[in-house]
Amino acid sequence: MRRLCLGIESTAHTFGAAIASDDGRIVSDVRDIYVPEAGKGIHPTGAAQHHSSVADKVVIAAFKDAHVRPEKIDAVAFSCGPGLGPCLRVGATVARAISVYFQKPLVPVNHAIAHIEIASLTTGARDPLVVLVSGGHTAIATYAARRWRICGETEDITLGNLLDMFARATGLSTPGGPEVERMAENGREMLDLPYTVKGNDVAYSGLLTAALREHKKGTQMADLCFSLQEVAFSMLTEATERALAHTGKRELLLTGGVAANRRLQSMLESIAQEHEAEFRVVDRRFSGDSGAQIAWTGILAFKAGLTVSVEESHVRPRWRLDEVDVAWRR
Ligand code: AMP
Ligand code: MG
Repeated sequence: MRRLCLGIESTAHTFGAAIASDDGRIVSDVRDIYVPEAGKGIHPTGAAQHHSSVADKVVIAAFKDAHVRPEKIDAVAFSCGPGLGPCLRVGATVARAISVYFQKPLVPVNHAIAHIEIASLTTGARDPLVVLVSGGHTAIATYAARRWRICGETEDITLGNLLDMFARATGLSTPGGPEVERMAENGREMLDLPYTVKGNDVAYSGLLTAALREHKKGTQMADLCFSLQEVAFSMLTEATERALAHTGKRELLLTGGVAANRRLQSMLESIAQEHEAEFRVVDRRFSGDSGAQIAWTGILAFKAGLTVSVEESHVRPRWRLDEVDVAWRR
């Protein structure tokens, strides 16, 4: 009998619910995304209110699309962290209620690990060096001795933040990443912007400040977006290449919302080729936050026996990727 898991995502802007089966199928995947007021970032309580107001319709749609009744699922997984506290609590509350009412085990899932597992599922990657780039993460990681080990990360803001904050301050629409990518296509001139790699870590806040200064001077947006992408992505590519050389991994896996960016993909693909590693990118449908990533990781964790009681199912807003014991991976 195939096992089914409901997954609930609510770390930041997205409230999502999905059902995954243990044969690796995403049977349904429904989302509703909070859009901040024009010119503003995610307001945690505003996003949480959004999630509360759409939760019932999203969860019901996930069951309907899957043609599955709640009684038929085997587990309920939820994004336990990291993320915005008020947002995480909405998803956890919904998951607890379903778990108690239908008497189904509750499975806490780390959101970052879920970005990696959904990418592994959709690409077939087995033992990759991972580049995780999203609103909440910029990390290069590799798996060893039951944990994901960080080979490099951002020292300040994430790559997603950089693009979103730049877009917001310059009047582009949100989310910023796709807009910056579109504008960059017509850029030609490479501007002089700060490139900051420290050890194997990157730092983006100086780059953001300098890019905004250029904008104030009246620099053309196409050139500015082009240069911003080139510098930001080159920094990450340099750190990734070093990690690839040190670990000798044969696969390079790109995941998270920013993984949808074609220029970033092509830079990482070229270093993968140089190191004779296969380059893989998460299926575009699952690059951004989704219930699917939680439902699938929920299946893996549930089968490894990683359930939690309702009493102990508190959310963990600062739960780092490298703190999770990954019982299901060899
Ligand atoms: P996530 O937190 O995983 O949902 O990812 C959201 C982030 O991905 C936001 O910062 C978006 O701006 C970014 N993003 C989405 N599409 C693209 C793209 N095509 N290029 C760059 N960033 C993107
Ligand atoms: Mg995410």
